[in-house]
Amino acid sequence: MTAEVDITIVGAGVIGCAVARELAQAGREIFVIEKNSGITRGENQSSRNSGVIHAGLYYDRSRRPLKAGLCAEGNTLLYRFCEQHGVPFRQTGKLVVAANNEETAVLETYRARAIENGVPVQLVTGVRAAELEPCVRAAAALRLPTSGIINPTVLVHKLHLLAAENGAQFLTSTQVAGIKAHNEGLAVEIEYRDGARDTFLTKLLINAAGLYADEVARLVQPASAYQIDPVRSETMKFYRTKREDLMLQGMNVYPTPRQFITPQGTYFSVGVHLTPTLTIDNKGNSPIGPEVTVGPLSRPAQHKDEYGGAYQPQEVFFNQVRSFFPGLQEGDLMPHQTGIQARLAGYQDWVIEFSDDERRCLNLLGIDSPGLTGSLAIARHVNELVKIQDLA
Ligand SMILES: Cc1cc2nc3c(=O)[nH]c(=O)nc-3n(C[C@H](O)[C@H](O)[C@H](O)COP(=O)(O)OP(=O)(O)OC[C@H]3O[C@@H](n4cnc5c(N)ncnc54)[C@H](O)[C@@H]3O)c2cc1C
Repeated sequence: MTAEVDITIVGAGVIGCAVARELAQAGREIFVIEKNSGITRGENQSSRNSGVIHAGLYYDRSRRPLKAGLCAEGNTLLYRFCEQHGVPFRQTGKLVVAANNEETAVLETYRARAIENGVPVQLVTGVRAAELEPCVRAAAALRLPTSGIINPTVLVHKLHLLAAENGAQFLTSTQVAGIKAHNEGLAVEIEYRDGARDTFLTKLLINAAGLYADEVARLVQPASAYQIDPVRSETMKFYRTKREDLMLQGMNVYPTPRQFITPQGTYFSVGVHLTPTLTIDNKGNSPIGPEVTVGPLSRPAQHKDEYGGAYQPQEVFFNQVRSFFPGLQEGDLMPHQTGIQARLAGYQDWVIEFSDDERRCLNLLGIDSPGLTGSLAIARHVNELVKIQDLA
């Protein structure tokens, strides 16, 4: 065995990088292993998401306490971080629209939930919603002023830089391929792109492997029953500058959320929504750009990297939004991107827990949306859990 490190993080998506920065700033020795060739490149959730800074409306404290608490906290931390570190963002605000009285009653439930989570919220009339976003039609809407948008890859890049500046070491193009218990911690076997392997000792492993976190958990504890069900999410886009009836002013616009029951369990969906995007102008500023994304339209993925292949028909996207955005015509839509979410089978909340009594591996499982928003708060939470560990 060649080397020994205090804390090894598997995965350098937004969660791995946020945790690396938080722990490195706290003076910890950190080693991050990432199988992609670059930190902000490649097929992972952190570079293929909607870039929405969620307010924290959706999550009830009884069934989804981590999402409820860490999304709202993460929202505040993220705005502060973006301002301090020059990450492009806009606090656009958001409308969650109701198409009829029945949906307005559902919005009332969510309004109460937002208040419980300490999230600023207002129930507005359809007329007021149309004043805020003239191309949007609604019977009523929730207005969430703390929702926004961010450039997610710049965020990951900054977190990576700050972690590295504080001493964290990153090894890319390298995969964690095996983990064995050792009397001083865990023996981690890594595999380089050329197939060569090395093994080192770590006192603590933090599993932030996203879609593969269940497999990494099983490397530590073969009996682990956690399973990630990958969900493929397709997104289209249109140009808001194309016609006056497409001219979204810049708010996030979501339908009323829905729960649906499948043989695998009950799932909750925020629905296909309209999200403005950021651009860069000739002064280096990041105003709202002409592209608006429409999505995601989700279905179970056949495997964890099913990024290619045909999109669902345009009319399916179109049918999801035309009731609240009637100016959109089918021919306005074009493909934008495909992402795959790490949904933990049978769970609606994130799972952040040690894998065994000896607390040598901290698993972060099912970190699906709003993981981007919650990333900095998740990193703080992890730091609190790690503080209890004696790594001497
Ligand atoms: C379509 C879509 C839309 C979303 N929209 C939003 C949104 O608007 N707002 C929001 O807050 N959240 C959103 N999310 C959720 C958010 O993107 C994720 O919660 C977040 O990116 C999770 O980050 P992560 O670091 O856990 O995972 P990832 O970004 O997937 O990173 C995990 C990393 O681990 C690496 N890895 C895996 N296995 C190994 C191994 N054995 N060895 C070494 N490295 C390994 C992978 O290569 C990967 O880079 C969205 C997600 C998707 C897919």
